[in-house]
Amino acid sequence: MYKDKLNDLIDSSGKMFREKYLKEHHIEICEDVIKFIKLNDLDSLPFKQQVYHYLNDIKNIVKCKNPNCNNTVKFKNSTIGYYTYCCNKCIGSDPDIIKEKELIIRKIWYKNTSTIQYNKIQNDRNEY
Ligand SMILES: [Zn+2]
Repeated sequence: MYKDKLNDLIDSSGKMFREKYLKEHHIEICEDVIKFIKLNDLDSLPFKQQVYHYLNDIKNIVKCKNPNCNNTVKFKNSTIGYYTYCCNKCIGSDPDIIKEKELIIRKIWYKNTSTIQYNKIQNDRNEY
């Protein structure tokens, strides 16, 4: 309920992500945010991140998407939220990304070879 209210009040100024402003103008929302943070043990986060967690119902500290990595990721801003990976190395070594890359390479390879074959057929035809 407070979440919807908060969503309605968010504007580009970012004031709804400031603890001081929320406390002074929307104490009920602020208390609801704090309740959520306490419940999920997210006290260590900066307030604007706490609001983001509250809004998006993220109950854990956000970790790097690479399954072999346990680092936390940087918070970009309250619109975009968190980065997916902690560093470029993790993007490059994520098994999912590697699989995706291979798939793209295979697709390109397939496309090229089929074009070559197609051209070959065309050339063969031209020989008649
Ligand atoms: Zn990582």
